[in-house]
Amino acid sequence: MEEVVIKDKEKYLRDNYPYRNIPQLNSEIVCIHCNNIFKVGQYKVFKDEYDEEYICCPDTPECNGSVIDWIPLE
Ligand SMILES: [Zn+2]
Repeated sequence: MEEVVIKDKEKYLRDNYPYRNIPQLNSEIVCIHCNNIFKVGQYKVFKDEYDEEYICCPDTPECNGSVIDWIPLE
């Protein structure tokens, strides 16, 4: 997978977040794959060989978690 550099992370999240309630970039979440806490805005985007883009854990490629593995912290 190849990393995609996102200039406007807020807009990208708004356009590509898979669920209805789009989190703030400064919201804290836990990745259930690596158990690390990070801010939503630290996400990375990678694309596969079909140019399909995925919102991924900031620890990618060490972690293979993605947006669906995020648990919000209160
Ligand atoms: Zn992770």
